[in-house]
Amino acid sequence: MEDTIFGRIARGEIPADIVFEDDRCVAFRDIAPQAPTHLLVIPRQPIDRLSRAAEADEPLLGHLLRVAARAARDAGLTDFRLVVNDGADAGQTVFHLHIHVLGGRALAWPPG
Ligand code: AMP
Repeated sequence: MEDTIFGRIARGEIPADIVFEDDRCVAFRDIAPQAPTHLLVIPRQPIDRLSRAAEADEPLLGHLLRVAARAARDAGLTDFRLVVNDGADAGQTVFHLHIHVLGGRALAWPPG
C-alpha cells in the first residue's frame, strides 16, 4: 500500500497529539474533531482498510478495539462511538486503517 500521513505518524516522522502508544498501535487526537473528544487509533503495521485485513491480523484488530475503549475511558468518556470508514464512499480519506473514537456529546443515529 502507499504511504500515508498516518504511516508517518506511526513512525514518529511527523508530530501528533498522542494519547497512547505501544509496540502495535498509536492513539492520537483527530486534527479536525467532530465531537468534544475525537481520537484515532491506528496500527503501526500498514493495513490500508479494514476489508483488506487478513485472518492473521485478528489479534491486532482485537487489540485496536481494546486500546480504543481504554483511550475513551482515559479521556473521561463513559459513552462513546467507534467508527471505521472502509472505502471512499464510506468516508475514508486516509488509507491507513484507523478507528475513530467519538464522544463527549450525544451522538445522533443513523450517521450521515
Ligand atoms: P477518514 O475520513 O475515516 O479516513 O478519517 C481520517 C481522519 O483523519 C479525519 O477525521 C481527519 O480529520 C484526520 N486527520 C487527517 N490528518 C490528520 C493529522 N495529521 N493528525 C490527526 N488527524 C488527522
